[in-house]
Amino acid sequence: MSIIKDFLLQLTFMVIPIFIYYTFITERVKNDKNRKVIMTMLWGLSILACMSFPVVFGENARLELRIIPLLLGTLYGGVFSGILLTGLIILYRLSFGIDIGFYNTVLVLVLSLPVILYFQKSFASSKKGLRVKMAMSLSFYYCLIGITWFGTLRGFSIENLIVPIIHLIFAVAVTFCFTLLIETIREIHQLRLEMQNTEKLKVIGELTSVFAHEIRNPMQATRGFLQLLNEPDLPDKKKEYIQISLEELDRANAIINDFLSFGKPSIQDNERIDVGFQIHRVVNIIQSYTLNRNVEIKTEIRDNCWIYANPQKLNQSLINILKNAIESMPHGGIVWIICSSTDDGYIKINIKDQGIGMTKKQIDMLGSPYYSLKESGTGLGMMVSFQIIRSFKGKIQVNSEKDIGTEFIILLPQIT
Ligand code: ADP
Ligand code: MG
Repeated sequence: MSIIKDFLLQLTFMVIPIFIYYTFITERVKNDKNRKVIMTMLWGLSILACMSFPVVFGENARLELRIIPLLLGTLYGGVFSGILLTGLIILYRLSFGIDIGFYNTVLVLVLSLPVILYFQKSFASSKKGLRVKMAMSLSFYYCLIGITWFGTLRGFSIENLIVPIIHLIFAVAVTFCFTLLIETIREIHQLRLEMQNTEKLKVIGELTSVFAHEIRNPMQATRGFLQLLNEPDLPDKKKEYIQISLEELDRANAIINDFLSFGKPSIQDNERIDVGFQIHRVVNIIQSYTLNRNVEIKTEIRDNCWIYANPQKLNQSLINILKNAIESMPHGGIVWIICSSTDDGYIKINIKDQGIGMTKKQIDMLGSPYYSLKESGTGLGMMVSFQIIRSFKGKIQVNSEKDIGTEFIILLPQIT
């Protein structure tokens, strides 16, 4: 009975940090670095608790699950968290005295930490299912080293290895449950953020359509009167002025139409769309934004690019990226948009600027909600864009160099 109690206690030590973190920290602490520090501290406490109250059965048979806080802390927290937590385990184990168990601890950690750190990067960019599998495999690997070491010391017999084998089974099972738990909680959070964002977009959409209507009516009236003024016996100069005014009014009307279509909630689903055509539309809309900024947009549609997607969403994601590119060049410059197709069935949109660029760390942060370095930034543009591209089964790649510029490469599955 006491074994079960001890085991449940170990599980509690892991549930508590997860719930504290996702209930109180994720929403309130906006700075990503601070969040990671807090997360590492919580996992550190969890490790100390796990090591202080192990499951004891029989003499010298201690079973504890410190690998799980270490593993989750490293996978979700990054390299520094991993190194700190490993150091913490070694120091705390040292305080129990230097014996064979201590060497065992150090050896297993030294052999497993580099592997965990190696996989951390790809873990961060993987999907839920793969993450769970990766965490389970790493937990299995960690325990396997323990078993091998244990067997080498005491001989590979079933009596000797039964405890480490039980440890392995429990560790892998518990890793599965907790990774799945964290992933599910993260998914719910993400969904909530998306919903908040959609809500905002909806309000903006509704406002735009109201304004657009109000502006369009006087514009129609102006257009009508301008046409009436355009009589055959007018001097050529005046005719030309009227013609220009009419063209400009039409242009304004086209822009309003485009905004209206953005404003509309995208009820319709995916359809066959010509990316080149959409890029021209987007550039038309964003042109007004470049006017006072000394920015030129150069478009090059190399191939006929058809994809299956929702045009409004695609345009929105392109606008967000283009807007950032323009904003990254406070002294003006050129933005290139190139659309081409690749040999492996994708269409490729390159959006390249000559702006302030980003550091590696800033690139990693892109797409996180509320991440913005601008005074009046929302930090939602990239998040929305990334989500849209992902929802089209596409990929986004970002290359950037500080003070040189940034290139976004969007890959979307091509259709014929
Ligand atoms: P916002 O534009 O409201 O700040 P975004 O999600 O659109 O939010 O962008 C997040 C951050 O990413 C920006 O604040 C900026 O620091 C950085 N960023 C995005 N695109 C670029 C770019 N082309 N060049 C330099 N920095 C960029
Ligand atoms: Mg932006």
